[in-house]
Amino acid sequence: MVILVHGGAGRVPEALREVVLEGVQRARDEGWRVLRQGGSAMDAVVAAVKVMEDDPVFNAGTGAALNRAGAAELDAAVMDGETLAFGGVAAVRDVKNPIELAREVMNSEHILLCGEGASAFARERGIPHHPPSLLVTEHALARWREVRKKGLKTSGTVGAVALDGQGRLAAATSTGGIVDKRVGRIGDTPLVGAGTYAEKGLGAASATGEGEFLARALVTYRSVSALRHQEPKDALFEALALAKALGGEGGIILVTADGRPVWHRTSPQMSFAFRSDDDEGAGLE
Ligand code: ASP
Repeated sequence: MVILVHGGAGRVPEALREVVLEGVQRARDEGWRVLRQGGSAMDAVVAAVKVMEDDPVFNAGTGAALNRAGAAELDAAVMDGETLAFGGVAAVRDVKNPIELAREVMNSEHILLCGEGASAFARERGIPHHPPSLLVTEHALARWREVRKKGLKTSGTVGAVALDGQGRLAAATSTGGIVDKRVGRIGDTPLVGAGTYAEKGLGAASATGEGEFLARALVTYRSVSALRHQEPKDALFEALALAKALGGEGGIILVTADGRPVWHRTSPQMSFAFRSDDDEGAGLE
């Protein structure tokens, strides 16, 4: 069994270093607890991502990056490697844990729902309305003001990949997207093969970084597919090199079908934490 999580690409201010490291480890521990109790890889990645959505330090769920109108619009997706089932939500404003809603979409007749339709579907599935103002934190507001003033581009997202005791693979990713994005902008996260991908016998991957470029390079699909003929590290290296050649930086986490956790980034930093039957670790490098 393996769980590997990331807390986003991009530079983390020194003052937040410890909090971010603690956050990814808490998410990792929750995912591991689920796996240990016999939960599926899908249960584990959703549980791990939920912890980070609820942690205001990460750009997902509560504390997510704000768009040009100062609101949080959330994207999230899950993919089950066993069945190639996929579920995504985009530009959702009133759901506390979009990763749970993405899982509901996976178990419906569709693969991706956005905006009001996604909210209506949430209510249908018993996921309550969450006041949009509760997703906005002081920190996100301060960041948003700074980005607008200085014209900066920042990113950060959360994700998890897992291999369970029965050899099943799953991936999950959740984000507020890029700070000060246009209203209605959708990034790589909820697009199959862009921010999130898993395939039986190969691997599961979750990406973070500049979505417009990661998506065009289909970085998670590219990395997972390449495992047929490449070492995992090389697969990640090539996928991110393509995104970089197109103009964007980022990071990817991946677990192989034989249980190797790997990660790589072209962004200045990426936080991560992992645990397997015989190893565990965490970092922000
Ligand atoms: N990839 C995300 C997006 O473009 C942002 C991020 O990872 O920080 O929406």
